[in-house]
Amino acid sequence: VVDTISKERRGENMRRIKSKGMKPEMVVRRLVHSMGYRYRLHSAKLPGKPDLIFPSRKKIIDVRGCFWHQHSGCIDSHIPKSNVPYWAPKLERNKSRDKRNARSWHKMGWKYLTVWECDVSRMPALAGRLRAFLDS
Ligand SMILES: [Zn+2]
Repeated sequence: VVDTISKERRGENMRRIKSKGMKPEMVVRRLVHSMGYRYRLHSAKLPGKPDLIFPSRKKIIDVRGCFWHQHSGCIDSHIPKSNVPYWAPKLERNKSRDKRNARSWHKMGWKYLTVWECDVSRMPALAGRLRAFLDS
C-alpha cells in the first residue's frame, strides 16, 4: 500500500512540474533557493558553464537531461532503435563533453553533484541529497 501511495504522489509531482512547463533546471533552482542557499548561474569562469555554482563553497550542481546526456540505466535515456545511427554519435559527444568538464572542475578544486531530469520527480529525496552535498 505504501508503495502505491508513493507512486501516485510521484506521478502527481511530475504532472505538477510538467503542467507548469518548468524545465528540470528551474525546478532545482527553486528547490535550492527555497532551502535557503544562494547561487550563481552559468558561470563562464568554469568549463561548460555549469547550471548552479556556489562560489563560497566551491560547489557545482549540474542538471542534466536524461536523454541528451544519456543517463545510464534510465528509461528516459532510451534511443529509438530506428534512429540509433543519427543519435548515437551526437549523444556520445555530449557524454564525453560532460566527462571532460567534470574532470576540469575536479582539477580546479570544485566539488560537483549531478542532478538528473528524472530526479526531480522524487523531490523529498532530491532535497535531502542537495542538502547533504551543499553542507558537507
Ligand atoms: Zn534519468
